[in-house]
Order: sequence, then structure tokens, then C-alpha cells
Amino acid sequence: MRRRIAALQRSAILRQIWVHGPQSRASLARRLKLRPSSVTSLTRELLDTGLLREVGEGRPNGGRPPLLLDVDRAGNYALALTVESRGLTVALVRWDAQVPHRVFEPIRPDENLLPFLQAVTRTCERVLAEAGVGRERVRGVGVGISALVDPAANEAVFSSTLAAVQRLRLDFLAQSLGLPVYLEDIAYMMALGERWFVYPGDHRALVMVYVGGGTCGAILEPWARPHSPRFACEFGHMVVDPDGPPCGCGKRGCLEAYVSERALLVQAEQLFGRRNGVSPTLAAVAEWAKEGDPAARQFIAAAGEYLGVMLANLVNVLAPALVVVGGSLLDTWGSLLWAELERCLQEHALPQLLRQVEVVPARLGEDAALIGCAARVMQAVWESPEAAPERGVLGRAAAAQA
Ligand SMILES: [Zn+2]
Repeated sequence: MRRRIAALQRSAILRQIWVHGPQSRASLARRLKLRPSSVTSLTRELLDTGLLREVGEGRPNGGRPPLLLDVDRAGNYALALTVESRGLTVALVRWDAQVPHRVFEPIRPDENLLPFLQAVTRTCERVLAEAGVGRERVRGVGVGISALVDPAANEAVFSSTLAAVQRLRLDFLAQSLGLPVYLEDIAYMMALGERWFVYPGDHRALVMVYVGGGTCGAILEPWARPHSPRFACEFGHMVVDPDGPPCGCGKRGCLEAYVSERALLVQAEQLFGRRNGVSPTLAAVAEWAKEGDPAARQFIAAAGEYLGVMLANLVNVLAPALVVVGGSLLDTWGSLLWAELERCLQEHALPQLLRQVEVVPARLGEDAALIGCAARVMQAVWESPEAAPERGVLGRAAAAQA
């Protein structure tokens, strides 16, 4: 029981510093209503495990200036993986949201999962070796996948863009690397990234809408209630037209069959044809639109209209306070898409609900999912700082093997 309380107090210290910035031990004791002697011993443990560091002196309050403590943002890392229809990205992400090294491989899971898992493991080993960062500074592996995930089982359940992910588990990766692995829906990872790095002190629930290879989303409860439910949401499979085009999920007329990278690439080829034998990319369509091509402008506006209507429906159903829209389609079409999206949102959402919601593009841009994977690792360390890898079960097993 005493160990459990100490773990909760260490979590509270990390959270307090993350949200409010570097602080002295006296300030932590006062704000968290802990005994100064407890704060001294708890912060010593967090300094010893490398989660905190001393960052200079604060303003003196009578006697000696107090030493300030901060999360060691530059000294800790996570491995971040995204598994999408276009391929696998493996990156090393520092806890200050820097991405010092990354590798892309155009591979995706297929029927025989073992070769895929072996390739993922090799790519992780390669990233660690090339970055020259010691394993002991990597606190875990966050994996964002374009799929519905059962977080309790750490298992992918279904994906409309990756046919063969059913029952994809990453125990093999955890055992090979000797690091804990956390598998989540990619939109949920993006939502976590925005929460931790853009809105750390914000108490609103956050609704994430992701438009990339597929279209999906997530809802995060307010930060102040870390253990309340959170959901990955299949916004992309809201039905727009029951007689519409087939969707990757096996049904018809879903939003994703109209607005997702995959759907838009098919539509772009039908509309613009191949040029010099090559299908148009979404970046090429953006270029034509910027040059004033009316068909390209109309094509992007139509996607913005679908998204704006979907967002209006979300606002009318959920009455959210903060909606963040991100994903690779937003990275490519950004401002071209946003004007039409806003116009349709204004036109279709109830004004009384619209007044209380902020709808914004993801601020972390194209690294949002990777940074979110690192946030997922940080969340796990926060919730249980004593389970940091060098002390964790898997870490100990790996150390015993070495
Ligand atoms: Zn669908």
C-alpha cells in the first residue's frame, strides 16, 4: 500500500512539473500538499532514475535560491512507430518533441505476420544503432496503427486500410527489444501528442479527427480525469450515402470512401487522368490548385465540404469544446481545404454549439502521430514511474540475457 501511494505521489510530481513548468521542491510540497521530507525523497528517486533533472535556481525567498526541477526532456526518448497503408515509419522521439532520427519502410502487415514483425524489429534496432542513443534512455515503444485496437489486449482488431491486421500483437517486438510496447489507434496517438505537447494545461475534452490513409478519430476526456474513458472513434465510417462507393470496411458510402488519401487518389486519377503515364499525387493537385486550375480547386473544395459537414455533425452530436483536425491530408492540402471546411461547418452546425467549440488544425503537423506515440510512452511512465524500463519486468529480462 505504501509503495502504491509513493508511486501515485511520484506521478503527481511529474504531472505537476509537466503542466506548470520547472519548480522547486518547496513549491511542489505546497501545491501538492505533501510533506517537504516526502518531496525530497520522492524527487531524489526521480532524479536517480533520470526522469527529472535540476535546471538552475529560482528566485530566492529569503535564504538561498531554491534549485528548480524539470522533467529531463532532452535526456529521455521513446521509440515511435506508425503502421499505415503507405508503410512503416520508425522514429526516435525525444521528450521535448524533437525527432532526431527516423526511417521509412514501404512495408505493411500481410497474412503471414511473422516476417512483418521481424522487419519492424530490425528497423527499430537500426534506428537505435544509427541514432547512437543508449537503450537505457529509451523508456518504451509507442505504436500508432491505422486500425481499431483493443487496448486491454494490446491487439489490433480491424482495419479498413490494412487488410491483415486482425490479431496483430506486438509481444514479439517487446521481447526482442526488451522494452514495453503500447499499441493504439493512430488518431488516439495524435490526440495524446496534441494534449501533452500543445495543450498540457488545458482542461477541455479533446476530439481528434484524423484524415490520412484512412479517416478516423479519438475522444480524450479532460486531462484532469486521466482514468476516465477514452475512445478511438470510427468517424470515417459514418455513412454519407447508403448507395455510395464501396469502403475498405466492406460496407458502402462511408465518409472514408469519399475523403481519405486512398479514396481521393482514385478520384484524382478518374478526374485528371494519368499524366506521362503517372497517376496524380495529392501534392500535385495542390500545386495545380495554387496555380489557379479551377478543376483542382473544385476537387479540394469538395473534400473540404465533406469534412465540414462531418465536423458539423460531430459538433451537433457531441457539443465538444476543442476539436483538432490532423493527418497527412491536412499536411498536404492544409489551407486550401480549411476555408471550405470552415464554411460548411458554419453553415451546418447549430450556432449555439458552434460558439462554444474551438476547431483547429493539429499544431504538431506531420510529426503529430510520432510525437503522440512518445506521449503514450510518457503516459505509461507517469502512471507508473517505478516501471521505467531499467526496472520493469521486460527490461530486467533483457538485462539478464545480456
Ligand atoms: Zn467504411
